[in-house]
Parts: sequence; C-alpha cells; structure tokens
Amino acid sequence: MATDTFDVIVIGAGHNGLVCSNYLSRAGLKVLVLEAAAQAGGACITRSFSEGFAVSACAHSVSQLHPDIVGDLGLESLGLQYAVKNLKTIALSEDGNHLSILGERVEGAQLSDSDRQAYGIFYNRTKRFAAVLANLAGKCPPRLVEGGLTEKLSLFKLGLDIRMLGKTEMREFMRIATINIFDVLEEQFENPLLKGAISFDAVLGAHMGPRSPNTVLAYIHRQMGSLFGFAGPALPQGGMGTVTQAIARAAVANKVDIRYNCPVKEITIDHGRAVGVVLQDGSTYSAAQIVSNADPGTTFKGLVGYPKLDSGFARRVENIRTKSDCAKLHLTLDGLPEFTGSSDAGQRMLIAPDAAYVERAFNHSKYGEYSSAPAMEILIPSVHDASLAPQGKHVMSIIVQYAPFMLRTGWDTQSKQAFTNIIVQRLARYAPNLPGLIIDSELLTPQDIEQEFRITGGHWHHCELALDQIAMMRPVYGATRYSTPIEGLYLCGAGCHPGGNVMGMAGKNSAAAIIKGRST
Ligand SMILES: Cc1cc2nc3c(=O)[nH]c(=O)nc-3n(C[C@H](O)[C@H](O)[C@H](O)COP(=O)(O)OP(=O)(O)OC[C@H]3O[C@@H](n4cnc5c(N)ncnc54)[C@H](O)[C@@H]3O)c2cc1C
Repeated sequence: MATDTFDVIVIGAGHNGLVCSNYLSRAGLKVLVLEAAAQAGGACITRSFSEGFAVSACAHSVSQLHPDIVGDLGLESLGLQYAVKNLKTIALSEDGNHLSILGERVEGAQLSDSDRQAYGIFYNRTKRFAAVLANLAGKCPPRLVEGGLTEKLSLFKLGLDIRMLGKTEMREFMRIATINIFDVLEEQFENPLLKGAISFDAVLGAHMGPRSPNTVLAYIHRQMGSLFGFAGPALPQGGMGTVTQAIARAAVANKVDIRYNCPVKEITIDHGRAVGVVLQDGSTYSAAQIVSNADPGTTFKGLVGYPKLDSGFARRVENIRTKSDCAKLHLTLDGLPEFTGSSDAGQRMLIAPDAAYVERAFNHSKYGEYSSAPAMEILIPSVHDASLAPQGKHVMSIIVQYAPFMLRTGWDTQSKQAFTNIIVQRLARYAPNLPGLIIDSELLTPQDIEQEFRITGGHWHHCELALDQIAMMRPVYGATRYSTPIEGLYLCGAGCHPGGNVMGMAGKNSAAAIIKGRST
C-alpha cells in the first residue's frame, strides 16, 4: 500500500491535467499526476498502428494552443517545434476546381468577387465575436448569481466586451448566435464549396449538422484560434505527442511527480470531502485536493459513484450530452495520392462540397447509421514531417463525420470495414490513385475512442459545446467553475470552460481556481 501524501493529486495526464499540474506546482504545491495510460497526452498523442509509421491518434493539428501556456511553460525550448504552420484549407471539388482558404482570404477560379468580399467580412466579424469568447476563455467564468466583487466585475467586463462590439455588431452577434450556420451561410454566400467548408468547421467534433442550433457558436469558438496566432492549423514536428511531451517535460522540471500505468478506480470521499484515490491495483494515495482531468461522466459516475452524489445532480450528469459522431481513419500509403486539380497534398483538405451535403451526412447519425457520403478533414502530415513515415511513403489522417457512437447494427469488424470502404471510395473521387496506395488502415469509431482514450462517448470536447453547456454552465449546473459538489474535488479537463481542443486553458484556469480556493 502506498503511503505518500501530496497537496494535490491530478487524475490524468492529458494536456489539461499536465498544464494544471505545472501551474499548481509552480505555486509551491506538491503534485502527483496519476495517468492510466503508458504515456502522457490523452487524446493528444503520437502513436504507431502500422510498423514504421506514426500518426497523431485523435487530435491531429494545433489550432488553438494558447500562447500564454507556450510562453509560461517554455514549451518551445522543451521540444515543441512545428513542421508547418498556417496550413491552407482546400475545399475539394471533384472536378479539381477547389477553393483555397487562409485567414480572411479565399481563392478559387469559380469564386465570385462578391463571395470573396463577403468571406473577408464574415471572417473578421466572427473573429471580433471570437475575441469576446477568447477573453472569457482566459479566466474562470463568473457566477451568474451570488458572485463577489471580482465576479461582478468579470460579468460586467463580459457585458462590456459585447457592448464594445458596437450597436450593429452586438445585434448581429445576438442574432446569429441563436440561429444555425446553414441559415447564416444562405444569407451571405453563393458558392456551395465555401458554404460547405464553413459549415464543416461549425460541426467539427459535434453531434450537430449545419442546421442544428449552436453551430454558429461552435464556429465562433473555433475562430478563437485566429486570436491565438493560428490563421490556419499547425502540425507539430513528430506529431501531436510533441505538444504533450513538452508539457510533461515542463511538469517534471517543475517537480511534478507523474506516474503512468496508474488507472484510478475510485475517488475516496470522507465526510463529504475528497481526500484521496484508490488505484485499480488497490494502492491508495491521499491529498488535500483531487483534480480530475477525466471527463465529467467518468469522474462523477465512474470515480465518485452516483450513490455518493445528490440524486438531482447525478441525473443532470447523466443527461450531459457526450455522444460523439466523429471517427478517425488512419491510412498508411505507398506514395503520395494525387488530388485532381491540386499539386499540394500537404494542406488541410475538406470533403464538404456544400452545406446540404454535410447536413445529409449528419442525418444518418440521428438514426444510428454511419454516413453513406461522409464529410471529412484530411491531413497528410508526412508531407512536412519525415519522422512519421519511411522515405517515399506517407501517412494520412482523416477526421470523418458522421459515425454515431451507437451504431444501430453495432460496431464490429464488419461494420468498421464497410464504413472504411465508404470513406476510401469517397476519397477516391478526389484522389483516384489513393486506393492503390493503401498499405494499412485503422478506423477509430467513437466507441474505440471511448475505450482507448477513456472519454465517455468518445467526445472531442468531453461533452457537447452548446449554449446550455458553456462558460458558467459547463459542464453542468452544480459542477461549474472547476469545482464540484464534493468539497476538495475539482475538474480541469475539456469538459470544463472553455471546452476542448488542444488549448490548455481549462487546465490553467482550474489551477488558478484551486490556488485561489486554498488561500481563502
Ligand atoms: C477524433 C478526435 C479528433 C480531434 N482532433 C483535434 C484536433 O485536430 N485539434 C485539436 O485541437 N483538438 C482535437 N480534438 C480534441 C482534443 O483532442 C481534446 O479536446 C483534448 O485532447 C482534451 O484534452 P484533455 O487534457 O482535457 O483530456 P484528455 O486528452 O481526454 O485527457 C484525459 C486523460 O485522463 C486520463 N484518465 C481518464 N480516466 C482516468 C483514470 N480513471 N485514471 C487515470 N487516468 C485517467 C486519460 O487516460 C487521459 O490521459 C480531437 C478529438 C477527437 C476525439
């Protein structure tokens, strides 16, 4: 039986758990991180599925990593380098008349001047709206009621940020935030490829189609990256694991004790207070504070247990929307695929030829089916990074929407192969030589992601990003602002404000809330 005592135990060495532990340790606390997996990173790792190749297993590009975290933790001097930054988004067209999008600019032979102009306006407007979210992302969201002076000031600042948009923009912000991206795009653009690409970005990682509410909000959330220095996605040299390895190195340098292969079975509660953890192997550890990087479902249902929680709160946790529709396909290739009409397979490519295509792809998942014509985000990181594949060969990483968490017929080898075939056939419409290049493949369904990465529902953000599950309402009433109904138990993962993506702010804000809590 282990007897070590720590000030804080962090459950999980995902990037947010590691960021949190860094800041806690820098504040002078003795921190232990217990990670179930054999390596750091959670859903942000590089791993191999086919000999000689490596791939970023879930997250495959950086578009929101907060510059404060990179600077505070000195990540660049600890190994974080990018193979390429600011990838263009190529909205693929079967006939080769693609669109190319970067920042506020969109180019394409069949694009009208009015769409080109309208896109610049749309981009800059949503960027201004994203600035309101980005300000909020950098701090613990204020309480709506019963707050102290600091929170009242925070709430006032949020109101002021919205007010400072100006009368017209404020009205537009309030208007579009509550409708869906499909309608907004219909109002502003003609080009179907452009509408397809924007709508794809508004539904990425979500159980939503372009006609769903909350899609404008999701798009604006994604736009925060442009304020953190990412006009387009970046690929870390060595894959996404490089990001988390650098954060882990910073943690070790900050004297954080990180232990791998340590799955936590239970959070120990004594007189309503979290006082320690029990591992699967029975060893126990105690600490004054326990922080969970695991998703809210895993934390409350799995590690605390509903019987130890108020039944109303347990019911609310059970109702958090966590079911993902997002699959990941990895292909190892015997050469570089040739995309019709494009000589640059190193950019971010989308198959989302129009917003209605994306909506139709979503329809299937509502009824427990995978899309017969899926929407996709395609990267070939080995174009920029020779460490990921043997010379002359390549690895392709594809985010595929939509694959429901609960497939009506069940996910098994057969259904996974059938869905893989559909995806490859769809890709071949754009890159006809692709099927002949495939050496090996790996499809991760949301259920696979749940199992391998221990994320309830396999959800990109640990739980849906929607108006009822953001900011001071995230993830659920009773467990907002990083604290929970159990005294001494905190959250620090993507399920907290400001949500998922490899950003690190949930971990940083959580550490600040814990440190503040200790001093009051
Ligand atoms: C398919 C897919 C593609 C994505 N693509 C991108 C992308 O391109 N770019 C991007 O920015 N984001 C992307 N994301 C989102 C991003 O990966 C996540 O939002 C982010 O990794 C969440 O980080 P986290 O540290 O909060 O949680 P996680 O990464 O989930 O880490 C939680 C950690 O806790 C550990 N843990 C859980 N339970 C226990 C336990 N009982 N005991 C001990 N340890 C435990 C887990 O093993 C894990 O290491 C993607 C997500 C998915 C699913």
